[in-house]
Amino acid sequence: MMLVVHLSAEAVAGLDTHLNVSPVIDLNDHQVVDAYEVSDRLRARTGLLHTMCVFPWCTRPAAYCDRDHVIAHALGGATCDCNLAPLCRRHHRLKTHSGWSYTTIEAGVWLWSEPHGQQFVRDHQGTLDVTPPGRRVTQTWSGCRHGPASADPSP
Ligand SMILES: [Zn+2]
Ligand SMILES: [Zn+2]
Repeated sequence: MMLVVHLSAEAVAGLDTHLNVSPVIDLNDHQVVDAYEVSDRLRARTGLLHTMCVFPWCTRPAAYCDRDHVIAHALGGATCDCNLAPLCRRHHRLKTHSGWSYTTIEAGVWLWSEPHGQQFVRDHQGTLDVTPPGRRVTQTWSGCRHGPASADPSP
């Protein structure tokens, strides 16, 4: 896919950003940066490849998302088109701190696993619950803070 972006001089001047606006972004290219930091160019490309947060059901636009290394950089994950995905701040935190994890199945398709074993396939079309039947978490709390209703004392 070739995406050609035409911007007028006024539009460029009005951009409140430090992005380097490239006249042509060819998404068939493969961009890799030899560092943990995601370059502005790579950040922009990730947002074009994946237009929103890739957490199950999330639709937060990529422009407002962090860029996450699917395979952690510390574990050898590359800083490149294939290993970066937009995650909104909330879901980035959830992944970092509460046991959610994900893996890339193929470009644009991720398998998410949550701490109790529920699993979800996320792609650009949406989210599919693929939790094995035995691992579905059943709701045990009704959400009501009161005890069971006491029996009516009147005769
Ligand atoms: Zn790559
Ligand atoms: Zn999100």
